[in-house]
Amino acid sequence: MDGRDLDKLVEKALSVHRNSYAPYSNVHVAAAVEAEDGTIYTGVNVENASYGLTICAERAAIAAMVAAGRRRVVKIAIVADTPEPLPPCGACRQVLAEFGSRDTLVVSVSTVTKESRVWRLGELLPYAFTVEHIRENRGSDAAP
Ligand SMILES: [Zn+2]
Repeated sequence: MDGRDLDKLVEKALSVHRNSYAPYSNVHVAAAVEAEDGTIYTGVNVENASYGLTICAERAAIAAMVAAGRRRVVKIAIVADTPEPLPPCGACRQVLAEFGSRDTLVVSVSTVTKESRVWRLGELLPYAFTVEHIRENRGSDAAP
């Protein structure tokens, strides 16, 4: 792993961190995903008065990547103003599994302590539910 690449990705996440909309939890999170062609997409958490409608930064970044026509996440950086680096929540792990692999790098940095953690997605979600589990039940014209 090239630490400079991760630093660049963390910088991208930090560049949008102030845009996080988190008036309820006051936990501000930003994420940056690097697609297979090296392009980087960012996202922030977007909370809602109807709490269950909150969108995580990780999924917001992945949605931006998909909207731009990319389909593979190589790595993701997460930054949050929490004392410890935040791991992605279960829902985000599953969405990462859709567009990443067991080897997808996940780096998380606390903006408070500057502490960082790095995982592989396979560590965070060892038994991911994937298209392979439903393939034989799908029609031959199904995508992808
Ligand atoms: Zn999440």
